[in-house]
Amino acid sequence: SESEKGGKVRSRIMVFVRLRPMNKKEKEGGSRCCVRIANCRDLYLTEFPNENDYLRLNRLRGRHFTFDAAFPDSASQQLVYSTSTSELVEGVLQGRNGSVFCYGATGAGKTYTMLGTVENPGVMVLAIKDVFRKIRQKSCDGNHVVHLSYLEVYNETVRDLLSPGRPLVLREDKQGIVAAGLTQYRAYSTDEVMALLQQGNQNRTTEPTRANETSSRSHAILQVVVEYRVRDAAMNIINRVGKLSLIDLAGSERALATDQRTLRSLEGANINRSLLALSSCINALVEGKKHVPYRNSKLTQLLKDSLGGTCNTVMIANISPSNLSFGETQNTVHWADRAK
Ligand code: ADP
Ligand code: MG
Repeated sequence: SESEKGGKVRSRIMVFVRLRPMNKKEKEGGSRCCVRIANCRDLYLTEFPNENDYLRLNRLRGRHFTFDAAFPDSASQQLVYSTSTSELVEGVLQGRNGSVFCYGATGAGKTYTMLGTVENPGVMVLAIKDVFRKIRQKSCDGNHVVHLSYLEVYNETVRDLLSPGRPLVLREDKQGIVAAGLTQYRAYSTDEVMALLQQGNQNRTTEPTRANETSSRSHAILQVVVEYRVRDAAMNIINRVGKLSLIDLAGSERALATDQRTLRSLEGANINRSLLALSSCINALVEGKKHVPYRNSKLTQLLKDSLGGTCNTVMIANISPSNLSFGETQNTVHWADRAK
């Protein structure tokens, strides 16, 4: 959504924080919880393992942050979905684009939030389910067509997660920027979707040294495209399209490491060009700048029609409760705070 302020059009981004439960390893390692959530909106960082962290945080905006919602570790997948994303699904069915991002360090709960598990499906699955439920409510004439695409940006290379193979080339045509040859899977029901997404997730690039883990440098993007026909005032049939992009971002820890380096050392690394470019775009949108630097990375090119303007944008920042991850948590919370 947009708001008019001082003559400038500012894009409003809804920002949420989700705390994950302490895991077994953290508990056994005797780690303490350093995050407290109150009133569903307020987040307190309550522990400062060393003097430097305390000083750094003080120079930021203090140790208390307020978000559109802050989800405690007991929050269900359904609650996270209905609070953050269900409105965007409604928008897509009215022909409006939107995007939902999960941001955070590796292990903070991004993939759990987006994809989830078979027992506890995440935002991607619940969104698709809701699309079909809402379509059934709206019409019974089979007017709506739903297509899914699932792709990855890894090292500034775009790949099709539903049909792995050669990298995809981005092209600009009259609809905007498209990935040439990307699979558009026609979905008829929710039943087939979880398996499809799990399989796609398996196709994400893995780090050579950790064969079973998906790379923390891979961005996964699910695009749900809904097409339907309506009649305009003159009773002409017109086509409407709404697109929802759901993005499981690369781990933010590397972006932070590179953030402090010069632009030059970033050049060869390509590590998080997409993540940094996304930050720049979000900052430009939030500040109401005329120029939004979409062209700087593959991720932002792909999302150009789904980010800013009249699009709905949601950011879910995922954090760990453990004091062992305090630095990352603090960085993530600060990043999310700037996106408001
Ligand atoms: P990321 O994708 O950010 O690297 P994951 O989503 O893979 O992190 O989460 C790391 C681990 O924590 C996984 O085993 C995941 O199942 C678990 N986890 C994350 N968030 C939750 C949650 N809200 N509830 C229960 N388990 C979670
Ligand atoms: Mg992950």
